[in-house]
Amino acid sequence: MADLLSTHVAIIGTGHAGVECAWALRAAGFEGDIMLLGAEPHPPYERPPLSKGLLTGTTSADRIALRAGDTYEKQGIRYSADDPVASIDTAARLIHTQAGRRIAYQHCVLATGASARGIAGLAGDHVHAVRGLDDAHRLRDAIRPGHRLLIVGAGYLGLEAACSARKLGAEVCVLEQQRGVMAGKVSAPTAERMETLHRHAGIDIRHGVAVTGWQRTPDAWRASLACGGVVDGQQVLVSIGAVADTRLAEAAGLECRDGIVVDEQCRASAPGIYAIGDCASAYRAELQRHARVESVQNALMQARTAAAVIAGKRPPAAKPLTFWSEQHGRRLQMAGLVHPALPCDDHVHATAKGWLVERYQQGRLAALEAVDSPVEFIKGVPRIGTPPVHV
Ligand SMILES: Cc1cc2nc3c(=O)[nH]c(=O)nc-3n(C[C@H](O)[C@H](O)[C@H](O)COP(=O)(O)OP(=O)(O)OC[C@H]3O[C@@H](n4cnc5c(N)ncnc54)[C@H](O)[C@@H]3O)c2cc1C
Repeated sequence: MADLLSTHVAIIGTGHAGVECAWALRAAGFEGDIMLLGAEPHPPYERPPLSKGLLTGTTSADRIALRAGDTYEKQGIRYSADDPVASIDTAARLIHTQAGRRIAYQHCVLATGASARGIAGLAGDHVHAVRGLDDAHRLRDAIRPGHRLLIVGAGYLGLEAACSARKLGAEVCVLEQQRGVMAGKVSAPTAERMETLHRHAGIDIRHGVAVTGWQRTPDAWRASLACGGVVDGQQVLVSIGAVADTRLAEAAGLECRDGIVVDEQCRASAPGIYAIGDCASAYRAELQRHARVESVQNALMQARTAAAVIAGKRPPAAKPLTFWSEQHGRRLQMAGLVHPALPCDDHVHATAKGWLVERYQQGRLAALEAVDSPVEFIKGVPRIGTPPVHV
């Protein structure tokens, strides 16, 4: 049997959440051992560029590292790659890795992220997702000028990838079953204006379109549409959301419901276990229920909260959630959350270079959207949760 290693804190997953948690522990003065346990072969990297600059070639893998390689050792953080954690025994506080390491811990932070959702029957060489660095490289290598990329899903990632593929000269067709782009994520005014930008760039966006089947032809994938037509593409990108990676947590008996259920201090349902980032489902007062949020800022905030709790410090004050996207050179910033079941009163304001949308629910500012308006955005975020300002 392999030697028994031990650490005060074991962090499983080396994305934004896991790496930030290690750094935040040191920033909080925590002097114990920290182990960061990664499944991927690459040093920890940022995911947002995968659908943006990494696809177009304006950035590269070596420029998206989360931290410089030598800083892990300098911070006294033991980091290992390419050896996924296979199981956690929460009663014995023991981790087993796939390579056979056994690690005893006092605190274990799950930061296992999420995996791209797939479509049954649609797989193989010409079918893509963009979740990890290898996916992005594979998609980039497959995009050809003049060839058509079919993108299923007009969410942020699908639209960002559409922009990138179009820049590389590909024909792009986006199929979306809901009405409008970024449906349920942004206001109708922002969705309509962003859709216009995509159309002007030559992207064929078809929304309100259900795909009823997929067929492999000699040189393309063919999507059959409920309305009767078909559309072909040499490559297909499936971008229909992500599923929380809860396999370890479920096998360990932790409470999971679309994510690992945690309290406001990121504590999961077993002693000494925390969950943070895309894999964690925390209570959201705005929605009056637990929900997962996939955003870098959420991953960083939860990482700092878990680190403070472990280090015996006061967790940082809660802040409105924020997210950003880049489409056709325009920067879309969002803050707050709207309750999907409540009506929204959207106020649109023109700014010097773009626009700002204030989204009110029940007489309070629930969310903000800003396009190319960073100053207005920064000024607006602290107003989230307050009634409208009448000028
Ligand atoms: C293409 C793309 C573009 C995005 N763009 C934006 C954007 O513009 N703005 C924004 O705010 N957010 C964006 N996001 C979302 C943002 O990147 C995520 O919310 C954030 O990266 C979540 O970090 P995380 O650490 O929770 O999870 P992840 O980054 O998914 O990291 C989880 C890690 O855990 C590892 N892991 C899983 N299981 C195990 C195991 N058993 N053992 C060890 N390791 C394991 C995984 O391999 C992975 O490396 C984007 C996401 C993607 C995919």
